[in-house]
Amino acid sequence: MKYYDSHAHIDLFLQKMGLLDHGREFDLEDISQNDITYLKYDKNELELYISNHELIIQPTISTNNFYLNFKLFSSDPRFVFLLGSHPDMVNDDFDSDSYLEKQAICIDFIKVNNLIQKKQIVGIGEVGLDYYHVRTEIGQVKQRDFFRSQIELTISLQIPLVIHCRDAFIDLFTILAEYPAINGRFLIHCFTGGVGELEEVLKLGGKISLGGVTTYSSAKGLQEAVKICPIESFVFETDLPFLSPVPKRGEVCQPEFIDFTAQFVADLREVSKEEAWIETRKNLKNLFGV
Ligand SMILES: [Zn+2]
Repeated sequence: MKYYDSHAHIDLFLQKMGLLDHGREFDLEDISQNDITYLKYDKNELELYISNHELIIQPTISTNNFYLNFKLFSSDPRFVFLLGSHPDMVNDDFDSDSYLEKQAICIDFIKVNNLIQKKQIVGIGEVGLDYYHVRTEIGQVKQRDFFRSQIELTISLQIPLVIHCRDAFIDLFTILAEYPAINGRFLIHCFTGGVGELEEVLKLGGKISLGGVTTYSSAKGLQEAVKICPIESFVFETDLPFLSPVPKRGEVCQPEFIDFTAQFVADLREVSKEEAWIETRKNLKNLFGV
């Protein structure tokens, strides 16, 4: 069985394993100068971890992180990329204007190189709302404003949106409902909601991505949602290197651990794991076109 991963930070995984030598902080300027020789990893070493994967969607968390990942992995056809700004960065000090300027440079890079047509850039993400890490009113207002700008970007580029949402489902659904043009083309990654939240996602036509959290004994509400989720509305992910599934909980999450999540979900839904992999692979293709 070939695996896919709808959300894996391979760069952070390599870093955690001590396999990515950053040398120094990566900088946006370096791209134009093509000066990335200080970024090193051993392709053969990575291969040991991803030899069973046919597709990896690499989310990015900032403009620099986008370039870094694109430079590191875009020569491998199994990788496709999202352009994102993680909501944890969107806090009280976040300067939206200067960020959007940098993002515009990324978008130019994407357009000039036809990366959307080539299906190397398949969405905007991860973006969203995180009220767990950003608790102030100022920070949360900034998050909502910035999230709206990213939805508008998604709509203008006509690619799907990959959403990170923690402790903010009510505001998330309110904002998504303001944009009918998004037309169900979104995925909530590492979904942690219960039946009520799932129903809202389905009403808006979106999909959910199930990661290691699904397997945790504390995730009873989520597991109830997984049991009733239509087969066409979910996919699997690791969120590498975080949130390792049972029985590997607490360890650095490795790419192959995604199969533990698939097995758990299949058991919960009383279907075979093979069927779960095949059906959810179709869902990924439907949403991202890859
Ligand atoms: Zn992530």
